[in-house]
Amino acid sequence: MPGEGTAIRLQSLHKSFGQVEAISGVDLEIRDGEFFSMLGPSGSGKTTVLRMIAGFEPPTGGTIELAGKDVTRLAPFERDVNTVFQDYALFPHMTLEQNVAYGLKVRKVPKAERLERAREALAGVRLEGFGKRRPSQLSGGQRQRVALARALVGRPRVLLLDEPLGALDLKLREEMQVELKELQRGVGITFVFVTHDQEEALTMSDRIAVFNRGRIEQIGTPAEVYERPATPFVAGFVGTSNLLTGEAAEQIVGAAGTYSVRPEKIRLVDAAGPEADDEHRSAIGTVAEVVYLGDATRFIVDLDSGGRLTALQQNLDSGSAEVGALRGTRIRLQWHQRHNFRVA
Ligand code: ATP
Repeated sequence: MPGEGTAIRLQSLHKSFGQVEAISGVDLEIRDGEFFSMLGPSGSGKTTVLRMIAGFEPPTGGTIELAGKDVTRLAPFERDVNTVFQDYALFPHMTLEQNVAYGLKVRKVPKAERLERAREALAGVRLEGFGKRRPSQLSGGQRQRVALARALVGRPRVLLLDEPLGALDLKLREEMQVELKELQRGVGITFVFVTHDQEEALTMSDRIAVFNRGRIEQIGTPAEVYERPATPFVAGFVGTSNLLTGEAAEQIVGAAGTYSVRPEKIRLVDAAGPEADDEHRSAIGTVAEVVYLGDATRFIVDLDSGGRLTALQQNLDSGSAEVGALRGTRIRLQWHQRHNFRVA
């Protein structure tokens, strides 16, 4: 569980590369022991922020504090952080033990101690007994675990991870997500995790910062970011974009603005049935598309009041034939009023 102290504090952080403004004012506080994700599309600036925290890239403005100390001008090795990169960067000619112990050797830790710590670190990522192998004798997931062991062996206060699961196939990635979260809980080190994969961020994080064009649009727990997106961008990037605007918003919600409602909160009911009560919103439309997903079905509905909404329903009793038959039919969509949020 995250502690009380502040592990990382960024204040009005800026970074320009020549004419390109990559980061335009980022303020952020990450707590001790937190699993914190920076989520955003390609080019939104996540990696640049991570590299500035690590000390690989000097900011053009603002400050970086680690555990209350201003490290903005310090070199990477003077900061109590370590980084795991997507390509692992293991030394191919060294055994796993030597790979993991390398950083301790550089820091002149005595040989017996560094071997013991390397073995412990390998055991911590479930690679006990693999110490004498070389990286080429491992699977992708195992290599990723060695990279983690190597980063953790020096017991940094903060571990920075830049899309560390990006090179793995989907199944392995999902397994590693669970493992990584367990590992982080076990060691209690602050993890800062960069990803463009919203599901990955929602699965693993205590909190998420959603990046867009060099700024943070929202910071919150996975549930806050998913269920109460603060902006249309967040509503669209995290989960399926489902927005009511203009005329449709006025008619359905009863007020001007842009509103988000999540597909799984919307029920499909008989268009000829009774109107919604005061607590529910409802809209009539025509089913434009039916997408059968196996465990659930996605219905894309063109509303009479303009715009379109997606509704997601579990396939409790229905198969693909039954749900497919709804294409082109009239339908009423209904959801509880607490499930629509104003995003603009
Ligand atoms: P990705 O997921 O693709 O890694 P990102 O969100 O991590 O994307 P950054 O790599 O931080 O994004 O890049 C942010 C912006 O800064 C981009 O417009 C990128 O082109 C620019 N940028 C990053 N590094 C440099 C550099 N060394 N020189 C010039 N521009 C750069």
